[in-house]
Amino acid sequence: MKTYKLVAIPGDGIGPEVISAGVEVLNTLAERAGTFGFAVDHFDWGGEYYKIHGRMMPEDGLDRIKDHDAILFGSAGHPDIADHITLWGLRLAICQPFDQYANVRPTRVLPGITSPLGAAGDAIDWVIVRENSEGEYAGVGGRVHRGSPLEAATDVSMFTRAGVERIMRFAFQLARGRPRKLLTVVTKSNAQRHAMVMWDEIAVQIAAEFPDVTWDKMLVDAMTTRMVMKPASIDTVVATNLHADILSDLAAALAGSLGIAPTANLNPERAFPSMFEPIHGSAFDITGKGIANPIGTFWSAVMLLEHLGEAAAAGRLMTAIERVTADARFHTPDIGGSATTAEVTAAVVAAIRGAND
Ligand code: NAD
Ligand code: MN
Repeated sequence: MKTYKLVAIPGDGIGPEVISAGVEVLNTLAERAGTFGFAVDHFDWGGEYYKIHGRMMPEDGLDRIKDHDAILFGSAGHPDIADHITLWGLRLAICQPFDQYANVRPTRVLPGITSPLGAAGDAIDWVIVRENSEGEYAGVGGRVHRGSPLEAATDVSMFTRAGVERIMRFAFQLARGRPRKLLTVVTKSNAQRHAMVMWDEIAVQIAAEFPDVTWDKMLVDAMTTRMVMKPASIDTVVATNLHADILSDLAAALAGSLGIAPTANLNPERAFPSMFEPIHGSAFDITGKGIANPIGTFWSAVMLLEHLGEAAAAGRLMTAIERVTADARFHTPDIGGSATTAEVTAAVVAAIRGAND
């Protein structure tokens, strides 16, 4: 029997609530399958750890997790600590050294969930590919003359040919594997006339390798309008780190709630473990209330299983999720119900156990 070594990093806010639900569901799937299991190592890294140790994770943190098969991550973000410290100290401190350059974010309106677009939302079946290693979040910049009237600060968005080529190739490949073979390349090359122009040129170059994929180019501002007004015209999307960050929150809202949306931070070459997480953050407003929607974490677990090659278990979990969302008794408050995290988790566990496929 294969035992996968998993890292669980619940982090802050509702992170621990949704990650313990996610681990329970993964263990249930393993029991149900009987052909694989999980050895889960939990790490208490995050804001509370920072308060004691002055850093979000230990200095040798990456060494401790680099040989695991995958990482399940909750959220970085603590009410008492500045967001750039928690984000750069934990999530980006893992994504960047592990070269998880492809951030994949599927969006669909699950059964029983209402899109703010109404029936038009049924057409949403998108995958957003976010460049996850450079661009606006490259960390290049500086701040001088702090506090003086001459104070200046820069965040330089840095794009490399190698970085853009690999994310374009990844996105075209992903689009090729989907029925519509349709890719939209999001850009802002009208206003940003250096890096975004190179981005566009590289899209044209890589597109030539994928003659069977239909593609178009869209300015990011116009893309927000298209997502709302013509959702059916979109399938696979590739965008920069910042653009895709924003577009995918919009996508999650159009699919019903931020609490449902999953993401995979992939190192496609598998030189390092990939990381799977709900796209939402720490949600301070509902922390500790037991009402966090765990579906985003469960869907992320589907992506984790797919990455591990456990397609049958991934399919079984997705079916269980859809069976549960279809039943309004198991809707948490963010999607208009009154169910708790524990009730939704128990329903998904029961659906996995009951599945006779
Ligand atoms: P957020 O995602 O934490 O919350 C936004 C809104 O969505 C809140 O009203 C929240 O209650 C709701 N929400 C989010 N997830 C939910 C869920 N599972 N179930 C029900 N409702 C849910 O975003 P924010 O308020 O902008 O950020 C809060 C903190 O989280 C900040 O410190 C931020 O930096 C951090 N953050 C971290 C990540 C990450 O680690 N990947 C992502 C986003 C935000
Ligand atoms: Mn975001």
